Amino acid sequence: MIRMRGVGRRFGTFEALRNVDLDVAAGEVVVLLGPSGSGKSTLIRCINHLEEYDSGDVFVGGVRVERGPNLLKVRQQTGMVFQSFNLFPNHTVLDNVALGPVRVKGLTWEAARTKARALLDRVGIGSQAEKYPGQLSGGQQQRVGIARALAMEPRILLFDEPTSALDPEMVGEVLQVIRSLAHSGVTMVLVTHEMGFARQVADRIVFMEAGEIREVSTPAAFFSGTANERARAFLDAVL
Ligand code: ATP
Ligand code: MG
Repeated sequence: MIRMRGVGRRFGTFEALRNVDLDVAAGEVVVLLGPSGSGKSTLIRCINHLEEYDSGDVFVGGVRVERGPNLLKVRQQTGMVFQSFNLFPNHTVLDNVALGPVRVKGLTWEAARTKARALLDRVGIGSQAEKYPGQLSGGQQQRVGIARALAMEPRILLFDEPTSALDPEMVGEVLQVIRSLAHSGVTMVLVTHEMGFARQVADRIVFMEAGEIREVSTPAAFFSGTANERARAFLDAVL
């Protein structure tokens, strides 16, 4: 579903990504771990071209990720959830979710809102539909963010630290929603600092350091200390 080959990204002389090879199968859940600045966000953003890569190839569903006509095809297949929610403050919660399908998929507002209501129910905030994002808690806002991504019916969901901006008591409710999606057949790439969650939800752990993938393993292997030395040092620091 996702295929990266020899992907590199430079900022001036600094290599934020170096020679990254990664395959993610349909329905697979891959969690990216690694120290701050190791390139996790850069990697995930190259998948939907929020970040441009300057060497190698990225394919999503067989389509090369690049500027031009391919980009719409890629974006239609991928949904992204950000750390900072990025909701539209002047639209109701319902319309935040309905807007994408109206604009991009050409649904009528009526059809899009019907679908949006079902999605808000699915993430447990159906009763908040008529409010504005600013009236919601952080955890509720992030669940709107997830419903909004789902509204586009993506085959791939990308999450970049979806719970990092939340107060601790709201992290669990958002992780619960992501956990339920992880087993729904959607392909997922997720950056998180929630190690317990990573262990539960991941099919594979990808450990990055200094712009490179240093280790790819099962969660069981990664967390049981069979990982390489750097990965162990990372775990010792975060656990
Ligand atoms: P964190 O855990 O802190 O989010 P990360 O693993 O997501 O870190 P990236 O955001 O991918 O790291 O950044 C990788 C490196 O690339 C960092 O050193 C960062 O400073 C650098 N970088 C990222 N974006 C830019 C940019 N637009 N211009 C210059 N340097 C950048
Ligand atoms: Mg990041």
